[in-house]
Amino acid sequence: MSQYIIPIFDEREIERSIGVPMASRLWNGSVSDRLGRPLRDLRISVTDRCNFRCTYCMPKEIFGPGYTFRPRSDLLSFEEIERLARQFVRLDVRKLRLTGGEPLLRRGLEDLVAMLAAIRTPDGDPVDLNLTTNGSLLGHKAAALKDAGLQRVTVSLDAIEDSVFQRMNDVDFRVRDVLAGIDAALAAGLWPVKVNMVIQRDVNEHQIMPMLDYFRGTGIILRFIEYMDVGNSNGWSRDSVVPSAAILKRISARCPLTPLDQTVAGETAQRWMLADGSAEIGVISSITEAFCGSCNRARLSMDGKLYLCLFASRGYDLRALLRGDSVNGIKPVDDTELQATIGEIWTRREDRYSAQRGQALQPREPERKIEMSYIGG
Ligand code: SAM
Ligand code: SF4
Ligand code: SF4
Repeated sequence: MSQYIIPIFDEREIERSIGVPMASRLWNGSVSDRLGRPLRDLRISVTDRCNFRCTYCMPKEIFGPGYTFRPRSDLLSFEEIERLARQFVRLDVRKLRLTGGEPLLRRGLEDLVAMLAAIRTPDGDPVDLNLTTNGSLLGHKAAALKDAGLQRVTVSLDAIEDSVFQRMNDVDFRVRDVLAGIDAALAAGLWPVKVNMVIQRDVNEHQIMPMLDYFRGTGIILRFIEYMDVGNSNGWSRDSVVPSAAILKRISARCPLTPLDQTVAGETAQRWMLADGSAEIGVISSITEAFCGSCNRARLSMDGKLYLCLFASRGYDLRALLRGDSVNGIKPVDDTELQATIGEIWTRREDRYSAQRGQALQPREPERKIEMSYIGG
């Protein structure tokens, strides 16, 4: 296969172009990056819009009425997403997660779920298909998503007390409506349900025990996430991070914890069981204990850019390869070339932002990072 470089531009940030390398060989089956990490997990953002304005993700001062979201024509169609997902699965991806923005705002999402659920690995197995949502529309959609083939769901909920939650989602959304979404997911048979809680010092850390008390005994897995410096909008500071170690200490002072083994390689959460068996919990320590060494995740934005790290500033424009781009003289490619190109991009990956931050080898900031709501968690 010939080797050539396509100049790709993000029209919103035209100064930062990135070349998509065309493959010098046919990548098929498992691929590893420059640090020996395989590609196993693809997170697919289906929209950059959201009905919440979580202060740590889409603060109103930036994502207010004047903010311009991607136009509809920029979004990948469901057929395009499915075509890309198939290529990733051929490269050994085993886990697909739909995210956003708020993925349930994308009309007809269950149709996409059905298309992705039909994908089979080369061994004929289905892939692990999951969704991360703020839960606001789950009450209406859980049954249809399950029928379409969704297996599991992760719901974000940052507090069990309305005043705290409403201050954080900043649109006055009520806790009980998210809980109704969780109940609908359980009733539909989406299992296990995980609940993600981003912990911010002096904002919701006092909600850790009340959240645990609410969810223990339900089978729901509560995961505490360290507040991260994703994007450029949330005014992050290290002082607002509550380290996972402190969270675990606080919990174990009341209920002893037993560590659990990893379920799959590259898992982001460290898992623990309450000694009385009443709940499994997880901590995601992106700040204090970077897990870049086993990071096997790629991210696809709603407009078809491939990002190799949550903290990346540039993405590879796969949509141009799907649709062609006459301005840049790019012709649409077939599946073989698409798969080979994705494999080639992965083999050149050396991203490990959190590990570098941890070692104070400061990454090349202040290049602008992509926003969490654009790329998903
Ligand atoms: N809207 C959906 C939701 O909230 O679940 C999906 C997208 S959201 C970007 C995915 C996850 O990222 C959520 O669990 C959210 O809490 C988390 N998240 C967003 N900003 C974050 C930050 N600065 N630090 C840590 N987690 C963050
Ligand atoms: Fe929306 Fe999710 Fe971001 Fe909150 S965390 S603003 S719900 S995308
Ligand atoms: Fe993976 Fe980047 Fe997060 Fe490290 S910082 S774990 S490479 S997404």
